[in-house]
Amino acid sequence: MLGPVILAASRSDRMRRLISAAPVTKQVVDRFIPGETVTDIVPIIEDLTAKGLELTMDVVGEDITTPEQATAARDAYLALIDHIEDLDLGPRVEMSVKLSMFGQALPSPATALNGEPSGLAPAFNGGHELALANVRPVVEAAAAIGTTVTLDAEDHTTLDSMFAIHEELRKDFPQTGCVIQAYLFRTEADARRLAAAGSRVRLVKGAYKEPAEVAHQNKHEIDKAYVRILKTLMEGDGYPMIGSHDPRLISIGQELARTAGRKLDEYEFQMLYGIRGDEHLRLAAEGHRMRVYTAYGTDWYGYFMRRLAEKPANLRFFLRSMVSK
Ligand code: FAD
Repeated sequence: MLGPVILAASRSDRMRRLISAAPVTKQVVDRFIPGETVTDIVPIIEDLTAKGLELTMDVVGEDITTPEQATAARDAYLALIDHIEDLDLGPRVEMSVKLSMFGQALPSPATALNGEPSGLAPAFNGGHELALANVRPVVEAAAAIGTTVTLDAEDHTTLDSMFAIHEELRKDFPQTGCVIQAYLFRTEADARRLAAAGSRVRLVKGAYKEPAEVAHQNKHEIDKAYVRILKTLMEGDGYPMIGSHDPRLISIGQELARTAGRKLDEYEFQMLYGIRGDEHLRLAAEGHRMRVYTAYGTDWYGYFMRRLAEKPANLRFFLRSMVSK
């Protein structure tokens, strides 16, 4: 039951300061986040694509506290896209973004100025418009180099806003993807809505600490929901992206794709950098489209803690490395 404790720590500023400052942390972090700058990450993109893999790039960062940080996040993605353009890889390298990093949880500018709701999007509080305004240029820049952006799913309180931003972006950029999480009760309905022509949907189990009112808590129930939702996506008209390292779900995914009559380029697998790397190569060698979610940057704490929470052995390894230092 370590997972929920680690997830709670992933939201603690005190733990963030302690862990980020620990001298050995960096070498453990590198397994999952293989660079801090665009310059570090370009050779990794070249290496993975040369091996037949595709990528989705995440500039790590979330839970920002000022509009300036949201603008900096936008600019970091724009700089990344500039570098990717030079590599001329088109849709083989796309972006993944977390809207919290683009200002979604901040007070909207109008609210901050006069204490009144902005009136622009009455269904949402906070920085919904700010996140939309910051993410749009990133989606535009990605489209201009022939690739696209997927909106990651964060905790359940952010999802109505995420789906509304997704719908808005798709009016001009229909390729914009989004993520749905099998552990949430709402997701079966979201999947039915999203399994439509032209949509790109990544299905994952879900990585946040969610209450029993909104999410399955039992691993077996989550896996069963994952299969039901994947079946809906495979039988629909969209483009399913199977985001999992779970060997059982990967073979069920292959079987569901076959039964639905999908060709190899009508769905894809996605896994995280640093996790089951041999499996990335095996699936690509079998002719599957295999996309590696590759995170980089300096604000790695939240991303790293979720990777620890997913597998307690990672935490043991991390603690051992601190003790043996
Ligand atoms: P699990 O049952 O957790 O793992 C199956 C096996 O994979 C494990 O037995 C182990 O061998 C290996 N494994 C899994 N995780 C780890 C790890 N951290 N370290 C080492 N080995 C591991 N979640 C969100 O909530 N929102 C998102 O937007 C999101 N995007 C994602 C994008 C991609 C491409 C992927 C692959 C995952 C994403 N996730 C996201 C995380 C996801 O929700 C799960 O937390 C994570 O994928 C672990 O679940 P699993 O399906 O791999 O199955």
